[in-house]
Amino acid sequence: MIQTQSAQPRRALVTGASSGIGAATAHRLTTDGWQVYALARRAEKLEHLAEQEGIIPIVCDVTDAEQVQQALAQVTAEGGIDTLVNNAGGALGVEKVGDGRVEDWDWMYRTNVIGTLTMVQAFLPMLRAHGEGTVLNLTSTAGITAYEGGGGYNAAKFGQHALTGALRLEEAEHNIRVIEVLPGLVHTEEFAAKRLRGDAAAAEAVYRGVEKPLTAEDVAEVIAHAVNLPHHINLDQIVVRPVAQAAQHKLIRKG
Ligand code: NAP
Repeated sequence: MIQTQSAQPRRALVTGASSGIGAATAHRLTTDGWQVYALARRAEKLEHLAEQEGIIPIVCDVTDAEQVQQALAQVTAEGGIDTLVNNAGGALGVEKVGDGRVEDWDWMYRTNVIGTLTMVQAFLPMLRAHGEGTVLNLTSTAGITAYEGGGGYNAAKFGQHALTGALRLEEAEHNIRVIEVLPGLVHTEEFAAKRLRGDAAAAEAVYRGVEKPLTAEDVAEVIAHAVNLPHHINLDQIVVRPVAQAAQHKLIRKG
C-alpha cells in the first residue's frame, strides 16, 4: 500500500473555486486536511465557500496580471503553497467555426490559456523554492479531440493542453510535478448555461437522458487522488469520462 503524503498540512491554491469543479475541489482537499486558497472573481460565492474551515477566499481575475500579483503577495505573506490547481476556465458558444464570434474565442483563449499562464508564471518561483511543487491544470477532452460546434473551446483547451505539456518538460529539473486532468461530460450547475448564454433549457438538454454524467465531486475526487499521491508519482494525463460517454462522438442517451 502506497502511503500518501501526510507529514505536514499541504497547501493549495485552486482557481475558479466559486462554483462547479473548483468549489468541489476546494471542499474535498480541505476535508483531506489541506489548507486551500479558493480564488475566483465572485466574492459572495467565495465567502459562502469559506464558511468551511481551512478555506481562504481570494477575489481575483486570473487574466489580470496585477490582481494575480496581489494574490501572490497575500499567499507569500501567509506561508506559500505547494500545489497550484488551474481550474478557472470555460466555454462560450457552440457556433461552427464559420459562424464563430471573435469575441467569444478571445474570451475563451484569455480565460483558459492566458489565465493559466499568468497564474503559472506568478507562482512558479514559489513552487520551485518549495522543492516538491505541483501544478495541476484542468483542461478537457475538448483539448485533445475536436468536435463540431466546439472549435473555439477546442482551440483554447488544445492551447492549455500544449502549455501543460511544455511546462512538464521544462519544470522536471525543478522537481515540479505537472498533472493534467481532462474531463469529458461533467454536469455542473453553471458550465453549460454560461456556454449557451443563459439558456437554461438548452443547458439541461446537454445532459438529457445521460445516465450518470460525471459530477463536480467526481472530478474533485480524481484531482484529490492525484495530488495526494507521493510527489514522485505523476499521473501526468488523466482522461476521465462517464461510462455513458465512451468517446467524444459516442454518448449514450436513454429515454
Ligand atoms: P464553472 O462552474 O462555470 O466554473 C468555472 C469557474 O471559473 C468559476 O468558478 C468562475 O468563477 C471561474 N472563472 C472564470 N473566469 C475567471 C477569471 N477570469 N478569473 C478567475 N476565475 C474565473 O464550470 P466547471 O464545469 O466547474 O468547469 C471548471 C473547469 O473545468 C473549466 O476550466 C472547464 O473548462 C473545465 N471542464 C468542464 C467540463 C464540464 O463538462 N463541466 C468538462 C471538461 C472540462 P467566477 O465567475 O466567480 O470568476
